[in-house]
Amino acid sequence: MDKKILDKKFVTYINEAKITEAVFRIASSINAEYQDKMPLFIAILNGSFIFAADLYKQINIPSQINFVKLSSYSGTQSSGSVTTSIGLDVAINARDIIIIEDIVDTGKTLSTFIAELKKEEPSSIRICALLHKQEATTHPIPIDYLGFTIPDLFVVGYGLDYNGFGRNLKDIHQLKES
Ligand code: 5GP
Repeated sequence: MDKKILDKKFVTYINEAKITEAVFRIASSINAEYQDKMPLFIAILNGSFIFAADLYKQINIPSQINFVKLSSYSGTQSSGSVTTSIGLDVAINARDIIIIEDIVDTGKTLSTFIAELKKEEPSSIRICALLHKQEATTHPIPIDYLGFTIPDLFVVGYGLDYNGFGRNLKDIHQLKES
């Protein structure tokens, strides 16, 4: 269904049922692979808040979750800079980390963040992302748990925004060019 957000039109791209299916698939892999590891999930705000919440509800092993805020986007284009404004409040040394990200585009945000985390010497770092714009990735990073590979299109909904709006859409929508 078409949605107008501010000055732009968006059309449904991945519906709620498909998203739920992907969340369940990812959670069941993590539950199986991290049985005795007490992983620490680190969700990247703001975009991943709905994905992180839905995913974490399906995690049934002992674990913790924490949140960081990084930013690299304004409007529909990457500004290229990465800043951390809300830091971690738990020690990550010797922990098994699972980063929860909404979307990997150029990969710059995550590769910068991973380099920062590595300084604290966690035991392991794995990446869980709902969406990956493979064609747009200039900083390749291994995505261990992935919902969907998508073309290089701007998307909103399910936590993702357009200038702060549209995060509450249940389906993921893509920008309609005309
Ligand atoms: P990267 O550093 O990988 O280029 O950018 C990652 C961040 O940019 C994501 O966490 C997300 O916040 C934002 N981003 C990238 N592509 C999109 C998009 O299509 N829609 C929205 N709303 N945000 C995006």
